[in-house]
Amino acid sequence: MLSKILIANRGEIAIRVMRTCRELGITSVAVYSELDRDAAHVRYADEAYALGGKTAAESYLNTDAILAAVKASRADGLHPGYGFYAENADFARAISDLGVTWIGPPPEAIEIMGDKISARRAAGRGGVVSVPGTLDPIENFNDVIAFGEKVGWPVAIKAAYGGGGKGMKVVHDAAGAQAGLESAEREAQAYFGRSEAYLEKYLTNPRHIEIQIIADNHGNVVWLGERDCSVQRRHQKLVEESPGAGIDEATRTAMGEAAVQVARGCGYVNAGTIEMLYENGEFYFLEMNTRLQVEHCVTEYVTSLDLVAEQIRIANGEPLSVTQELVVRRGHSIECRINAENPAKGFLPSPGTINRMTVPAGPGVRWDAGYEEGDAVSQYYDNLVGKLVVWAPDRDSARHRMLRALKELTIDGIHTTKPAHELILAHPDFAAGKHSTRWLEEHVDMSALESISNAVAPVGTEDLAPQVLPVEVDGRRFEVKIWMPEVVANGSSGTPKKNPRPRAATSAVGNSNGTISAPMQGTIVRLLVKAGDKVDSGQALLVLEAMKMENHVNAEHGGTVKEIRVSEGETVTAGDTLVVIE
Ligand code: ADP
Repeated sequence: MLSKILIANRGEIAIRVMRTCRELGITSVAVYSELDRDAAHVRYADEAYALGGKTAAESYLNTDAILAAVKASRADGLHPGYGFYAENADFARAISDLGVTWIGPPPEAIEIMGDKISARRAAGRGGVVSVPGTLDPIENFNDVIAFGEKVGWPVAIKAAYGGGGKGMKVVHDAAGAQAGLESAEREAQAYFGRSEAYLEKYLTNPRHIEIQIIADNHGNVVWLGERDCSVQRRHQKLVEESPGAGIDEATRTAMGEAAVQVARGCGYVNAGTIEMLYENGEFYFLEMNTRLQVEHCVTEYVTSLDLVAEQIRIANGEPLSVTQELVVRRGHSIECRINAENPAKGFLPSPGTINRMTVPAGPGVRWDAGYEEGDAVSQYYDNLVGKLVVWAPDRDSARHRMLRALKELTIDGIHTTKPAHELILAHPDFAAGKHSTRWLEEHVDMSALESISNAVAPVGTEDLAPQVLPVEVDGRRFEVKIWMPEVVANGSSGTPKKNPRPRAATSAVGNSNGTISAPMQGTIVRLLVKAGDKVDSGQALLVLEAMKMENHVNAEHGGTVKEIRVSEGETVTAGDTLVVIE
């Protein structure tokens, strides 16, 4: 039986796993990057080990550092959370080779489902229909044209190894085929190191419905119900709910049984999700996510199961706690992803320090967060601040409960998706359950949303204030509490709580005198122009990456590039001058 679990992750999912560990009497071990020395997941953990590094590649994706922490902590299990190493078969094997239990599916199942082409084949073997498309990599753009003419435009070019909305391009006609293919392959190569792509018919009005399954080592595979994740922007989820509005019991059961077939077809064990697109009464296999998902909480609410506890049971070799007949779904649950993004500006990333935060409570409300007041949301990691989840006996009560809970949530210092959620949850289309995956971008205008104030929290005036400081002894983290003058505590030391840091507004990127400044904190990943180039108004000048998202910074006016003040790889803060155009 596992007694000490290392969580190879950060933020809300790390804390989510640690909470169950604590309930089960299991010691939790955190790992952390240099920037996360005093992060919420580190403060929560029973023990914590330094990985070093700032970027994900240097820290949470540094295999050697994580393996060293596993050995130093003597953890007997490893939970990968989602993202980072969760769907990496080689990493899973490396953990098992150490004699440590991998709390996830067999590496072979990860491999089959990690490649979308082989996943489509596996679904077919299980008798489940995929979105109409091809089963071989595209050879050239003529394949795209032939496919579009056969099934009808638009078509989606999808990277076989893509994910997180990256590596997918929608092509509307034959003229766009070549550019679409090149762009999908380039993005896939850059993000996933492999450029293979295939084709799918692009459904114009689908809903994203997915089925949660759990499977043990005794041959039991159980489906727990569906989640509707159709409220999306940039093909990424924003609101999820269970059950899906208007999904009847016969359709739900058919989807659940199809999901079980897919899981059995790839020898699946542990928790997983079969994603499907649902349109005009038909459902199609989209892909399988071989891990716990962000939105697992809505399934937990309606089934009263703890999915992390199920994962640990399964990893221990025990049978599932439920059979299919014992799964009971009650009521309705909705989750809103509270991201550090500005919905009024096209969901632009908004890293920074949370100066003030009050979180909702009361009946039927759950707040799973990776940050507390005073914490900094770094540009180097994912932008999920927390998940607000509610349960109520029926969908409309859950919707009203979510609106009430959103009103109680205050986050100052960064922009968040909260105002977008208030608009979505109150919208008549959402209330009627009439939304599909394109609905948010095509029918909801976010531009009128007011930007939140970046009010700075007042600094305390006490002479002495207790400060909890992290210290490292041989790479292991401990906390010491010391009393320091407030001015020192809020000065140069590494861990002040309530450390106000005023931020520049993230809207304006250029002004009339031709200086183009950074709309947000981030890293320059690519310069697209050089000094002396002629540029048109609106032309992309450089690519600025923040929170795993690439953003183009464009010229406000046409002219000649006089000066470029930054170089590739450089980190900038909001308001820094990037380019001067005359
Ligand atoms: P990723 O692995 O990047 O998350 P998915 O294949 O899971 O990509 O798709 C993510 C979202 O993109 C879906 O929820 C849906 O909104 C949209 N999508 C993907 N494939 C199609 C398709 N063939 N037709 C319409 N929408 C699609």
